[in-house]
Amino acid sequence: MHASVTPRIEINLAKIAYNANQLLQLYGAKGIGIMGVTKVVCGNPAIAEVLVNKGIGVLADSKLENLRKMREAGIQAQFVLLRTPSLSEVNEVIAYADISMNTELAIIQKLSAIAHAQNKRHQIILMLEMGDLREGIMPADMAGFIAEVLALPGVQVVGLGASFACFGGVKPSAVKMDELSAIVQGIEDQFSLPLMYISGGNSANYNWLMEVKDTGKINNVRLGESIYLGREPVFREAISGLFTDAFTFVTEVIEAKVKPSVPYGEKGQDAFGNLPQFQDRGMMRRGLLGVGEQDVLVSGLTPQANIEVLGSSSDHIVLDLKKSNLQVGDEVSFSLNYSALLSAMTSPYVLKAYTH
Ligand SMILES: *Cc1c(COP(=O)(O)O)cnc(C)c1O
Repeated sequence: MHASVTPRIEINLAKIAYNANQLLQLYGAKGIGIMGVTKVVCGNPAIAEVLVNKGIGVLADSKLENLRKMREAGIQAQFVLLRTPSLSEVNEVIAYADISMNTELAIIQKLSAIAHAQNKRHQIILMLEMGDLREGIMPADMAGFIAEVLALPGVQVVGLGASFACFGGVKPSAVKMDELSAIVQGIEDQFSLPLMYISGGNSANYNWLMEVKDTGKINNVRLGESIYLGREPVFREAISGLFTDAFTFVTEVIEAKVKPSVPYGEKGQDAFGNLPQFQDRGMMRRGLLGVGEQDVLVSGLTPQANIEVLGSSSDHIVLDLKKSNLQVGDEVSFSLNYSALLSAMTSPYVLKAYTH
């Protein structure tokens, strides 16, 4: 019924389910469990339900609003806040997350105080800095850090984790993963902690997984991109056997005319403060789409037909229609990369349409 509404993102739940299942088998065969990361799909309950039905019992998101949305939709899972909480949202963390990832004592102290006052024990995963230089406690500081955390009555350390390929582009290589296992082993030897999760990374860990013989202490990864887009993020290669087209962005032509290929008149900046340059291709058939940067990150879209995106403003995309016969009212479909998927799922202007 919604098939004619544009702009829309078509979400093929069967392909997501298939990818989730394949990844569960692949990682499971080496003793590694999966947290389903829902942030790129904004905690979409229909997608969350697919993950849970396939056997992913732990869902992780970086937004408390998304965790709340999934809870309120009745999704039966454990919920993880995928980043360190801000001090000002600690109350909501206790309410909506079973587990949170942490790196700062002041925040953990507040989590503990609030959980303890409610007779709860909030679970935490401590993140180790392994070189990617986003979140993480420096390994040399970890033992002292844990000693302080163990004295807090309202929190329980249930795991250790690390992030790779998120900020610094540092790969989860075999050397890095062995280093992580060795640090974890040292912590386990020093403190008797029942660590349920040794979370070694994200979709970027795929190549490590395929090559590794001994996964060491690692028993968990947090997967988003490889489930939804069937790719590993280090080289953005498709993972063989997975669907890379579970999502399609669809919009429609609102103008199609033959026009020059180079803007004419006295020139200044474009809508975003750039001084654009254009190649003279003579007269061309140009198409206009009624969506722009406010709807989706246009640079992350790839047209499925043989047409070319020439540029965009807040609310339009300009196309070279090339030899295509696209007319006003015709739909135009695009594949999405990770950033485009994130923006389209976040945008209130883009309808979410489910296919099976
Ligand atoms: C986003 C995120 C993930 C998931 O990353 P993918 O590359 O989508 O698999 C895992 N861990 C953390 C901490 C994240 O922020």
